Amino acid sequence: MKRSRKSRQKYSRYRRLQKGGLRPDTNSGEVLGITDTWSFIDPELISKFQGYIFGAKTYKNIWLELLQACKTKQIPVYVITSGNLIGVIRTIQLLGFSDLFEEVISTRLSSDPNPNPEIHKERYFAGKTKPDVIRSIMKEKGIPYDEKDETKLPLAAFFDDDPGHFVDLNTYVVKTSYSGGKPAMLNSEFMNDMRTNIFFTSIFSSGHKTRYNKYNQIEHNFTYIDELNRAISGITGVTKDGVVPTFSEIYKKGVLKDIDDYKKIKILFLDWDQTVSVWQGPPDFKGADFSLIKDHLVITPIHK
Ligand SMILES: [Mg+2]
Repeated sequence: MKRSRKSRQKYSRYRRLQKGGLRPDTNSGEVLGITDTWSFIDPELISKFQGYIFGAKTYKNIWLELLQACKTKQIPVYVITSGNLIGVIRTIQLLGFSDLFEEVISTRLSSDPNPNPEIHKERYFAGKTKPDVIRSIMKEKGIPYDEKDETKLPLAAFFDDDPGHFVDLNTYVVKTSYSGGKPAMLNSEFMNDMRTNIFFTSIFSSGHKTRYNKYNQIEHNFTYIDELNRAISGITGVTKDGVVPTFSEIYKKGVLKDIDDYKKIKILFLDWDQTVSVWQGPPDFKGADFSLIKDHLVITPIHK
């Protein structure tokens, strides 16, 4: 069926505004004060920024692989943060990953980095719990959030480094994952990559790093690479080498079950801070965090 001119216009406007995890009916760019998208001019800087945000090259590559697998399989990816909404949106733009995320949603009530205007009552998530948001979004996408047929479950996955966010999440709907308080990244791997990363050594040294990082600690709590590999194996349908252990039948069974679970998911929810990004918060892109990068940016206005 041919779409009318009016609906075509509406659609293209929506697509443009959606860039960087923005939607006109919720965290619209205009209301957030975001009227443009940012990208680095120099591809080397994009790569270094990716390394900085993910903490190590291994992590950057594997997250990218997972996000691309989701895109290929049309599994929408939502970020739900209780942190700095605008910082996360700008970070995603600068990573060059805007097309890999459906939306960034903030549950924070405070106003400054999270204006959260009530544009649409049903999409007003400030003060809501992450499980509440997950149920709302699943409902909106027509994915049953109360599916009773266990053979169809899980329908969604949710990664968060904070187990507190899983309270009240119905496990029959959502597969949750966090590193259980155990270290997922060793300090040596992180420091090795950071030593040659300009965002670590100079750009964010005075601002972001000192406010947020845990680089002086020995270990980083973070999503396990093993978990990400299981997710990629399930979503792509191609089990990655070395993902299924050969040494323990019980462990092997568990991993195969995990991969099977990921085969069924129709949607992926991610916390950002210390789940996708290694940092406790995104750069706020104000003051020093902005002045040192601004000459390296291409700023593209979002047209209405
Ligand atoms: Mg977190």
